[in-house]
Amino acid sequence: MTEALRPCPFCGEAAKEYLWKYHYGCSNESCGGYAANLTLDQWNRRAEPSPNPVQDKIGAEMEAWERGYAAAMQNVLIDGARRMMSGEAEPVQATCTWTRDEGFVVWATACANTFCIGDTPAEDDMRFCCYCGGLVEAINRTGGQR
Ligand SMILES: [Zn+2]
Ligand SMILES: [Zn+2]
Repeated sequence: MTEALRPCPFCGEAAKEYLWKYHYGCSNESCGGYAANLTLDQWNRRAEPSPNPVQDKIGAEMEAWERGYAAAMQNVLIDGARRMMSGEAEPVQATCTWTRDEGFVVWATACANTFCIGDTPAEDDMRFCCYCGGLVEAINRTGGQR
């Protein structure tokens, strides 16, 4: 035998060879690795357990999410910049006037979109137009037909 047995990854105790030879596990009877029954290669090559597996998992998920988010944001920004430079998109307006007739739920925005809310934008704490980014100036026309 040339390769040395590495200690148990769970409890750090020495590994032991089973009676049936060439198979190994932890020498500590109360350890989960006690019944591992691995070959020398498997025993020595198993992944080192992380001292903090849950945090590692959350960290990995956060990283993946951040990568995805960064990529998405980059696309949005690049796309926006491209459209802006090509003249397709208007630069952000200072204000966007939203109008509706009293009693209706559909607002017509100055940037040629529609938005559906029962309240006024102010009542819903909407300060900026979700389409053009302009400061919303809401005109609730009274006396409109239902
Ligand atoms: Zn062990
Ligand atoms: Zn707008």
